[in-house]
Order: sequence, then structure tokens, then C-alpha cells
Amino acid sequence: MDFALSDEERAVRDTVRAFVTREVMPLEPELLRRERAHQPGLDRSELRELQLRAKKFGFWGLATPESYGGMALPAVMQSLIWTELGRTFVPFRFGGEADNILFHATEEQQREFLLPTIAGDRISCFAITEPGAGSDAANIKLRARRDGDDWILDGEKTFITNGNDADFAIVVAVTDPEKGARRGGATAFLVDRAMGWRSEFIPTMGEGGPASLVFDGVRVPHRNILGELGQGFTLGMEWIGKGRYTIPSHAVGIAERALQMAIDHANTRETFGAPIATNQAIQWMIADSETELEAARWLILRSAWTVDQGLDPRHASSMGKLYGAGMVNRVVDRVLQIHGGMGYTRELPIERWYRQVRLYRIFEGTDEMQRLIISRDLLRGYTKIGGHLA
Ligand SMILES: Cc1cc2nc3c(=O)[nH]c(=O)nc-3n(C[C@H](O)[C@H](O)[C@H](O)COP(=O)(O)OP(=O)(O)OC[C@H]3O[C@@H](n4cnc5c(N)ncnc54)[C@H](O)[C@@H]3O)c2cc1C
Repeated sequence: MDFALSDEERAVRDTVRAFVTREVMPLEPELLRRERAHQPGLDRSELRELQLRAKKFGFWGLATPESYGGMALPAVMQSLIWTELGRTFVPFRFGGEADNILFHATEEQQREFLLPTIAGDRISCFAITEPGAGSDAANIKLRARRDGDDWILDGEKTFITNGNDADFAIVVAVTDPEKGARRGGATAFLVDRAMGWRSEFIPTMGEGGPASLVFDGVRVPHRNILGELGQGFTLGMEWIGKGRYTIPSHAVGIAERALQMAIDHANTRETFGAPIATNQAIQWMIADSETELEAARWLILRSAWTVDQGLDPRHASSMGKLYGAGMVNRVVDRVLQIHGGMGYTRELPIERWYRQVRLYRIFEGTDEMQRLIISRDLLRGYTKIGGHLA
């Protein structure tokens, strides 16, 4: 058994670390200043400039196929990179990416939607959740009715990331209510903002809130169906599947950085004439955090490895998402506690993380949904205890 990184994995990881340290982390004080002033972190042009600088460094389109100018990196490599990005609280991600399901686009759709998204000229959002259908995504009601060569969309989506900035939305709509979404009754549509949907910002605990999207008789040409008629739910699950290992990989990076801050603070902050690190109460918080962080790291890398092996990654990814999201919430909470009152202020990034990581237990499948999947797999005998070693 070999737990080491390959030379290539180490080299890529170290290059990303160098880029993040040199080009992204210097923006952190300004980001905290903006946080205190209740201003957004990075604006679109600042993010783009950083992404173009990263491109010169050789990082562009981590998951994008090489034929589209990307790197097509294996999932383990992507997981390692997302962990590095988690080590800064600047909301940076590499450019050259597009939603994984946009690669199902026809040639014409690729020219109109996929290629400009990869280039960073257009912003997309993916919309399945509705006010009445979140965890129970198959219960969506936003209706698409055929009208000649067009479809007319009516209904509402909610909590859509990038929904307020997006130039177009990938919308999963009900095309055949008789069949139900799971059995071919839902279809994904590529819908330009210019076609008439409107968005409304939703303020949240975190930065850059999501949006509600309202479709009121929005006319969409039949040629804007993404994939096949009736394939919408399957595409939706494919879109969600990607985040099941990138989100917890990011969480590992946040926990690493935050825990190091706690260690440094514990060694330097003195109470009653001694560093707080001399107290067992503090030591145990550090020990528990490191142990959980390490457990999450291997669970998540294993789920990414499962993707690279061409195995069904759903069971492993659900465990990684469940444990990784819980881990980072527990670690950041302890790190805040170790910092005392300072941890609660906006001088430090800890309270920002505290709010940010709460989302990780909710979006792209709540804790409860991950538990449902994991237990169902075992109870129905789809998976054996012990995974690929069983
Ligand atoms: C900031 C943010 C960004 C998001 N981005 C997107 C996006 O880009 N696109 C998109 O389509 N969606 C997005 N979402 C939606 C997100 O995926 C949903 O919020 C999530 O799936 C939960 O759905 P819900 O909010 O309707 O909660 P509900 O489904 O109403 O669940 C409420 C609670 O009940 C629990 N619960 C539900 N059913 C069960 C059950 N059977 N057993 C046990 N417990 C259960 C849930 O786990 C949860 O704790 C985003 C959400 C947020 C907050």
C-alpha cells in the first residue's frame, strides 16, 4: 500500500501552492477590509485577471478536455488542487472551466454556450432547485410546454449560485408530468437571460448570495435542449456528482489553514502566565481537529481515486462529502474557540469561514441526503462494507 503522492501529483500540488501563496494570498488583507465594509470579495474583472495570470502559470481548465484547451486532470489531482485553493479565503478558482454537463451540447450549442463559458466571456448557472423541491429534486414543477418549434417555460427556481450574474441558465424543467422527472419527464434547457427570465438576489450568511430565477412564459427554441428530451434529471445528477468530491477537498484546505492558525495562536497567546497551548483543553481541540482532518483527507482522496478508476463513485463521494463538510465545521468552530474574542471579529478570517462552511453541509446534497444514500446502498446490498477492499 502506498500513501505517497506521485512525483507529478507533488509537482502540480507544489506549483498551485506557489501560485496561491504568491498571487492570491496577498489579496487577503484587502478582502478582509471589504468584508468589514460589507462589500463583495472579488469582482468579476479581478477574478478574471487572476485566472489569466494562472493561465500563464499553466493552470487553465482543470477538468476541461484537452481538445477544448483544458488540462483534463485526473480527479485525484483536481482534489489536491481544490485543497490548495481552500488554503486561502480569497474566493479564487481557476478559469477555463464549464459545467460538466455543458459538454453534452451540440456543435451549435457549443459555439453559443460552451466555448464562451470556457473562455470566461459568458457566465452560466445551473438551476434544478425550486421553492418546493430541494432534496426531493424529482418533485420539480417548473413546466416546459411545447409550442411549435419552441417550448414555453413557467415557474421558479431558487438558491441558484451565480443566478444574478449569469448570462444563461441550464434549467431542468418538467416536459412530461405523467412520467415524472426520474423516469424521463424532465429536460434540461439552455436559456439565455435575453429570452426573458429575471433573477432576484437572496441574501445569505455567506458571500455572494444565490438568486431566485423567475420564468414567466419564457420562450425557448427546441434546439436549446441540452442532451436528449427527457434526460434532464440524469444530467442534473451528473452536475451534482462533480461537487461531491471538489467541495470536501476545498474543506480540507480550509481546515488545514485554520488549524495552523490555531496552533500558532495557542503557542503565542498567554493567559495566567503561560501559553494557552499548555492547557489540555486546548491540546485536545487541536488533536481532535488534526485526526478528523486526516481522516477526511483520505476518505476524499479515495472518492476521487474511485472516479479515476472508472468505478461508481457515488457511495465513496457521499461519505467524503458528509464527513468532509462536518469535519470543516467542527474544526473551524474549535479554531474560533481557541482564538477567543479575536476569533469572533472581522480582523481575522475565522468568522468568515465559520459562516462559509455552514453551507457545505447543505448544498449539493445535505448531510441527511448523503446519509440516506450511504445507508440505502448498504441496506439494499448495492455496496459492501469496506468498499473496493471488500
Ligand atoms: C448558497 C446556496 C447555493 C445553492 N446553489 C444551487 C445551485 O446552483 N443550483 C441548484 O439547483 N440548487 C442550489 N442550491 C440548492 C441546494 O442544493 C438545496 O438548498 C439543498 O439541496 C437542500 O434543499 P432545500 O433547501 O429545499 O431543503 P429541504 O429539501 O427542504 O430540506 C430541509 C431539511 O430536511 C432534511 N430532509 C429532507 N428530506 C429528508 C429525508 N427524506 N430524510 C431526512 N431529512 C430530510 C434536509 O436534509 C434538510 O435538513 C443552493 C443552495 C444554497 C443555500
